[in-house]
Amino acid sequence: MATLDRFDIKGRSALVTGAASGIGLAYAEAMAEAGAMVTLTDIDGEGAEREAARLREAGCEVRFDRLDVSDFDAVAAAFDTHAKVYGGLDITFANAGIDTGAGFWNPAGHRNPDGQVDTYDPKRWDKSISVNLSGVFYTVSNAVRVMKQPGRANGRSGGSIICTASNAGLVTEPIVGLPYMPAKAGVLHMVRALGLELAEFRIRINAIAPGPFVTNIGGGWLKKDPVARKAWDAIVPLGAVAETDQLKPLALLLASDASDYMTGSHVVIDGGMMLGKYQ
Ligand code: NAD
Repeated sequence: MATLDRFDIKGRSALVTGAASGIGLAYAEAMAEAGAMVTLTDIDGEGAEREAARLREAGCEVRFDRLDVSDFDAVAAAFDTHAKVYGGLDITFANAGIDTGAGFWNPAGHRNPDGQVDTYDPKRWDKSISVNLSGVFYTVSNAVRVMKQPGRANGRSGGSIICTASNAGLVTEPIVGLPYMPAKAGVLHMVRALGLELAEFRIRINAIAPGPFVTNIGGGWLKKDPVARKAWDAIVPLGAVAETDQLKPLALLLASDASDYMTGSHVVIDGGMMLGKYQ
């Protein structure tokens, strides 16, 4: 097979969580632009509807669903509907995530009184884990259930699941809330465990561990605060925080047969942040 043909996902179907904004929207765009049929899901149903309409206008085959990934039954229903509409499921991005805030240092590097382990609000902890870790499990669990179903309309078996982790799951990131770090580390290790469990079904699962991308996370501070933006640009070895478009080629690689020998793995995409200049 010609190398470029391995990236071909035309006629496959993909479901993306957290697809109304930021990184999830870039994944959804990458899939739709490459010819896949895509369901954009998000707790922000209006945002998912707006982005789906925009992509349809551009000639893509997409639909949307309002979905809170911390509700297992709702996640199950969203996957069932997707499979019914598109005749199966080939690709899933378990992407929805939040930062519940109160990092133990604030961006100026001072101790944050709300962010210490002995003051951290357990409600913030539970909320972060319910979306960033349980939400990924709920998404992956239902994706696998549907991918294993026999008689898929497109006649294919297997599938590719991509989870959005973070470099904060590999090294410490003091300005994000404490639970974000173990939740993302948990995602990375779940991916390793499931790589092994799912290999015999030819279902591959991999993670993307982004560094700083300009999105709405944490209230969109990288978009809104030019001083913080400049400070972060200065500490990225490749010179700047990233735009979400820069994730699209990696999304296509992991979703397609171009990565058919990769599973249980992760790819760091952080402009070199983890190489040591900042940490
Ligand atoms: P974002 O806020 O722009 O997008 C996140 C989307 O998830 C939003 O549309 C939001 O409505 C949705 N969402 C939130 N809670 C949800 C829920 N319970 N159910 C369904 N959808 C929900 O932020 P982003 O930066 O694009 O974040 C996407 C993923 O990337 C997250 O997992 C985040 O942790 C991860 N990430 C982001 C960065 C970064 O620098 N932006 C770095 C590393 C990892």
